[in-house]
Amino acid sequence: QNTRYLQSQSERESNARSYPRRLPIVIKEAEGIHITDMDGKVYYDCLAGAGTLALGHNHPVVIEAMQQLLTSKHPLHTLDLTTPLKEKFVEEVFASLPPSFAQNAKIQFCGPTGGDAIEAAIKLVKTATGKRSILSFQGGYHGSTHAAMSLSGTLGQKERVNGLIPDVHFMPYPYEYRCPFGIGGEQTHQISSSYIENLLDDPESGIVSPCAMIFEVVQGEGGSIPAPVEWIREMRRITQERNIPLIIDEVQTGLGRTGKLYAFEHAGIIPDVLVLSKAIGGSLPLSVVIYNKELDQWNPGAHIGTFRGNQMAMAAGLATLRYIREHHIPEHVTQMGALLVEQLQHIQQQTGCIGDIRGRGLMIGVEIVNDQKIMDHLGHYPAHPQLASLIQQECLKRGLILEVGGRHSTVMRFLPPLIITQEQVLEVTRIFGEAVT
Ligand code: PMP
Repeated sequence: QNTRYLQSQSERESNARSYPRRLPIVIKEAEGIHITDMDGKVYYDCLAGAGTLALGHNHPVVIEAMQQLLTSKHPLHTLDLTTPLKEKFVEEVFASLPPSFAQNAKIQFCGPTGGDAIEAAIKLVKTATGKRSILSFQGGYHGSTHAAMSLSGTLGQKERVNGLIPDVHFMPYPYEYRCPFGIGGEQTHQISSSYIENLLDDPESGIVSPCAMIFEVVQGEGGSIPAPVEWIREMRRITQERNIPLIIDEVQTGLGRTGKLYAFEHAGIIPDVLVLSKAIGGSLPLSVVIYNKELDQWNPGAHIGTFRGNQMAMAAGLATLRYIREHHIPEHVTQMGALLVEQLQHIQQQTGCIGDIRGRGLMIGVEIVNDQKIMDHLGHYPAHPQLASLIQQECLKRGLILEVGGRHSTVMRFLPPLIITQEQVLEVTRIFGEAVT
């Protein structure tokens, strides 16, 4: 049965489709961490809607919240007119933020996707500062809309699109394993921050007072690369001293994924602008921007769009966020993440192709390299995208869905639902180990 649907998909659907090329499965049903295909084969889903499904597929509290809404004559669509449900959602989101951020913050509902919220964030800071150049980071990913894509690193998709937004300056991200300065380890983040500070203070660098700096605290699509907390604090200091609004993109890291409700909390900093999507809609489309009130200088109507009042997503998101907070899911994520890393390290010791294991919480990346152990001139082990792709296929055959990401398409990305159990971590890593071997 799978084959028939897949054939029809490749004939009718756009050439731009991406996930289905690498994951040729047809999903019949799903529950928790599991999905079942048309032929009855069951998979562990460690892609989880690219990190969206914090509570896994069809979690009872999410389903119940949606059923209640459907049977209550509650409007499903309201543009951005308000409802008691929306008020409750906003209250829960604000209660989940560090108080020093929440007490000075405002929220803007955006269109259904993370990309749309990134567009809003950029327009917000451009309006408030009157400036235009933006500091972004190599390997970052912020979405597929025009501006969001312009801020993203080179992940292939930009290649053939002309006329992206100008004045985006790409800074080196503290990617320790593939250090852009050819050194690695802790020195990566120290050099990255001095380099950025130096560029900002040098009139000849061509970077004239930016309207914002934007980054992910853990780069997601770029290969699950966590920025060291010292580096994050340095970025906060550098931007604060120069009055540059700091936008933190937590579309993927938000709501407990990294072991804190928000990943910026690891560094004890407060951003000026926080971008959320994915898990915030409890598996339905929703995105928001939360920002310091002082930036709220745009005109009414400056960021509009029809689908900013997705009531069903608010019901699902509210149930998800409540569950995450009430059940201390971030602590569970920390424990399961540590177990996952420990198991992956055993596999690393037994095989020769795992170069690096890294991440935070349940956002873990495993970098696949050539086992020759010959470094290039920058001190990097050669990336091995064909082997990564082969491992992905071997995992799929054995019932494990993993995405491959990273700048060189060599990072096996573990993004399971946050409610993954200890037994499931062991089973997922057992399958992965078998596939790698
Ligand atoms: N920012 C980050 C960090 C993301 O991971 C993504 C999606 N993978 C986006 C923005 C864009 O979100 P969307 O695909 O919903 O537009």
